[in-house]
Amino acid sequence: MNMSNHSKPVVTRFAPSPTGFLHIGGVRTALFAYLWARQNGGSFILRIEDTDKNREVAGSIEHIMESLRWLGLEWTYGPDVAGPFGSCLQSDRLETYRSYAQKLIDAGLAYPDPYSTAEVTTFRERAQAEKRPFLFREHRPNEFATWDGTTPLRFKVPEVKRYEWEDAVRGKLSGGAEMLDDFILIKADGYPTYNFAHIIDDYEMGVTHVMRGEEFIASTPKYLSLYEALGIEHPVFVTLPPIMGPDGKKKLSKRDGAKDLLDYRTDGYLPEAMRNFLALIGWNPGGDEEIYPDAQLTAAFSLDRIQKSGGAFNEEKLKWMNAHYLKQTSTDFKQTYVANALPETVKQLPQYSTERLNKLVPTVLERIHNQVEITSAAEAGEYDWAFTVPNYKTELLQWKNDSTVTAAAPRLSTLKSLLQEAYFASPDDIKAAVWDYADAEGRGEVLWPLRTALTGRERSPDPFTCAYVLGQSETLTRIDAAITKLHQ
Ligand code: GLU
Repeated sequence: MNMSNHSKPVVTRFAPSPTGFLHIGGVRTALFAYLWARQNGGSFILRIEDTDKNREVAGSIEHIMESLRWLGLEWTYGPDVAGPFGSCLQSDRLETYRSYAQKLIDAGLAYPDPYSTAEVTTFRERAQAEKRPFLFREHRPNEFATWDGTTPLRFKVPEVKRYEWEDAVRGKLSGGAEMLDDFILIKADGYPTYNFAHIIDDYEMGVTHVMRGEEFIASTPKYLSLYEALGIEHPVFVTLPPIMGPDGKKKLSKRDGAKDLLDYRTDGYLPEAMRNFLALIGWNPGGDEEIYPDAQLTAAFSLDRIQKSGGAFNEEKLKWMNAHYLKQTSTDFKQTYVANALPETVKQLPQYSTERLNKLVPTVLERIHNQVEITSAAEAGEYDWAFTVPNYKTELLQWKNDSTVTAAAPRLSTLKSLLQEAYFASPDDIKAAVWDYADAEGRGEVLWPLRTALTGRERSPDPFTCAYVLGQSETLTRIDAAITKLHQ
């Protein structure tokens, strides 16, 4: 089955309602729509579905735009770039909806709702009490009044029948009478419903592929009857699988990470890692490869590998990917990345300098996955040794095989003379200077007191790295201090 439409250029859209932040599920939909458009050299539209003024949250349009930009999903048309079809904000398009509504009225396929809200509520309650679905069409008036725009305009479902349609992911789907109803096209406040507006816009904007969640499957018969009434072709429906929590059983909840996309930026995730991670939730490229940088991702993406069942959101995998992409960044980027995550308390330590920090950066990045982890390690004092003279008990210098504390003193003296002659251009230079001695004398016996003298910690990076970070002069000073301690 070839789901790309031969004759028309591919047009996809992401159509969020401006009701708050953009969470992971929404972003994944945007990513898939973007990838499909890019792969086919088509357009990707960011359409703002702002027709429910009560639910609108101020600032969310800007927030959505900032989120997508951060992720690198540039739109061809959006709130800031009108298309040949006009504005991408539904609230700017009321005239368009009204003109389509008029066509339906003229064809006898739309009529003003003659009942008050209270009456409709009574119908609904009665149906519920009788345990049958509430269908407005059963209350359809025989004669249609003229619509003056002050009451809801309803669609007159032309024919109650069963629909079958093809979904690019789910295959053959069907639904019928139970879903077909005289739904509202335009509300009493003059704004269209989602059910009406999205169909008009998808058509006017030339959308070829509609990617959205499974919650829209149930209403598809409604949409199909409206497409038919309007005499227009429907786009390819591409139902994306839900995003599940880490256990794969329940839908992702706020607690498992359904947070604002921009919170991930704050936590130090890279957009390329996030893109790669999101792409693999519900899309399976086949094979074992999981790393898909941007260009490869665009090339590999395909509709027929979108899964039917939910994909798990596994934050550990996101961390792993972030660490992978972090390693690919430039030295400058890494240095700024680590510096930005360090708390002020560390930056105010007496020996803090950018030069030292930069030498520490590769070591920091070996273990961490994001900036939150750097901040918490720094807060726990893990990097303090690099920027302040350590304060430690003399016993710490004693290697477990040594019977006395002072056994370390002559070894530290030998190390000192070796290190006085050493190059300090890299940890390897330092290692080369002391390795033969450590190997002959006993690695633990030599390297343990060296490392603890430099860091005052039981756990830290290897002694060569520590000496490199501190530089020659500070390394020798700390060794001297350790020798003095041992003689006290
Ligand atoms: N505004 C709808 C939503 O946010 C869009 C659904 C669609 O993509 O058609 O759920």
